[in-house]
Amino acid sequence: MYDSIVIGAGIAGSTVARQLAEKKGHKVLVVEKRDHIGGNCYDRPDAYGILVHEYGPHIFHTNMEDVFAYLSGFTEWILYENGHQVVANVDGRLIPVPFNLNTLHMIYDKETADVLEKKLKDTYGEGSRVPIMKLREDPDEQIQAIAQYVYENVFLKYTMKQWGQTPEEISPEVTGRVPVLISYDNRYFQDKYQGVPKHGFLAMFHRMLDHENITVRTGTDAKELLEFREQEICFEGQPFKGNVIFTGALDELYDCKYGRLPYRSLEFAFEHLEQEDFQDGHSVVNYTVSEDFTRITEFKYLTRQEDANGTTIVREYPFAYTGAEGEIPYYAIMNPENEALYRKYEKLAQQHANLYLLGRLAEYKYYNIDAMTKKALELADSLPGC
Ligand code: FAD
Ligand code: UDP
Repeated sequence: MYDSIVIGAGIAGSTVARQLAEKKGHKVLVVEKRDHIGGNCYDRPDAYGILVHEYGPHIFHTNMEDVFAYLSGFTEWILYENGHQVVANVDGRLIPVPFNLNTLHMIYDKETADVLEKKLKDTYGEGSRVPIMKLREDPDEQIQAIAQYVYENVFLKYTMKQWGQTPEEISPEVTGRVPVLISYDNRYFQDKYQGVPKHGFLAMFHRMLDHENITVRTGTDAKELLEFREQEICFEGQPFKGNVIFTGALDELYDCKYGRLPYRSLEFAFEHLEQEDFQDGHSVVNYTVSEDFTRITEFKYLTRQEDANGTTIVREYPFAYTGAEGEIPYYAIMNPENEALYRKYEKLAQQHANLYLLGRLAEYKYYNIDAMTKKALELADSLPGC
């Protein structure tokens, strides 16, 4: 009855399902355990009519023309003219993040900042992006002093909250996502396209999955329908020879038989305030030296709802995922030990020639929306048509 079964209706699952249905003529079943589609990109209006991102702020950003064009087939955009901008609250003072030359001039007097700016430009080149862990290795004392400031005031406490580990202990790839910028660029991302879907992410996902060849079953754990026996996948008790594309956590697919893959989770504490503004126009403020939460998002500025009455904010409290009912694994904790454990599960999955692992959870990787879309497009391209 189905040519392909896609497990998970996030951006990975929705993209691959749409492509298989439309380009390859597959009859596709999408199985999603949450009661909605969209995965972590899901958004909804709250009780006060303000569109909020249920699983934390999601900003689409990309340099990939093909990905932007593809998703633009399902949505118009609110593109940020000046990019997505973030500030850090450092002892009550708001400084631009990533740390850049504007930040440098805020924390040093003009004369010193001018000297340091020249030194940074001479050493790394104007416009370059220097990971904090690399900047810390610079032999120059003055550059080291800047690196120490950034390390202590931007990275150390935030990383401890987010990961429960120091910046040295986590993969350099993670802190490298927010490099020191040797430019006056206050944007959080340097991508050409940055914004949110004009009518929200959920509307975009509905359009992606709205196809005659696609059937969506939400509120259904794939394990209720599928059984992963040795060499064989069964669907509703019968051997299934079509493609199975899995976008969930791989350890959980195999009942964590080798032990749990570690993930970080988050608790989102939403609050509606009867005031017009909470963060002085800032959509995201990172708390890099204080508080138990990492950041506060004020949605009216993220999704351009400035005329809303009152304002809704969300605080993010990280914690170690345990697998308890209701918890969601958001971030793979990438290190050699965890990756080795992941590979054991991957080996189990390789028993099934028709099982494909796709997505931030299933691949145990740190993907942004655009990279995930690209990967899903490539997978769909590689599969044969009917
Ligand atoms: P998901 O969105 O997690 O989708 C997987 C789906 O599979 C889920 O809906 C899950 O319920 C379902 N599933 C799992 N197991 C089963 C099962 N057994 N049966 C049925 N269904 C199952 N990226 C950006 O580009 N920009 C951002 O600003 C950004 N902000 C982020 C903020 C936070 C707090 C987080 C956590 C991530 C952020 N990301 C951002 C990353 C983005 O969320 C991911 O790139 C994207 O969601 C990955 O899509 P996915 O389909 O792989 O995973
Ligand atoms: N980070 C930090 N301080 C900040 C912003 C980021 O220490 O103000 C570190 C932190 O370790 C974080 C990583 O850089 O996990 C990557 O940040 P990013 O904003 O990309 O995280 P995400 O939005 O994916 O949670």
